[in-house]
Amino acid sequence: MHEYSIVQSLIELCEKNAEKYHAVRIDKVIIKIGVLGGVEPYLVKTAFNAFKEKTICNDAELIINMQPLIIECNECDSISESKEPYCKCQKCGSTNAEIIDGKDMYLMKLEME
Ligand SMILES: [Zn+2]
Repeated sequence: MHEYSIVQSLIELCEKNAEKYHAVRIDKVIIKIGVLGGVEPYLVKTAFNAFKEKTICNDAELIINMQPLIIECNECDSISESKEPYCKCQKCGSTNAEIIDGKDMYLMKLEME
């Protein structure tokens, strides 16, 4: 499953960060998931809870923030936010636009001790 590999690399990333900052445990993992990322937040959460055991994230809580699509229009140059999973300018309705955020998953913040 897609979400499982995402969570595995997320936990690896947490372990690397913990090592770097000499943390003994991670309390909170905050991530951002783009609405176009094709990732189900509840599956990420389930996978995280399954994989975190005996890792640095054993006691960590996963917080997921959904990132809406941010679209920059090539027609009217406006930047708009779309809750819909497709690329369309919210101002003029043009589909001649670029997605500038909301596509991927990012690790935003780790709280650790
Ligand atoms: Zn536009």
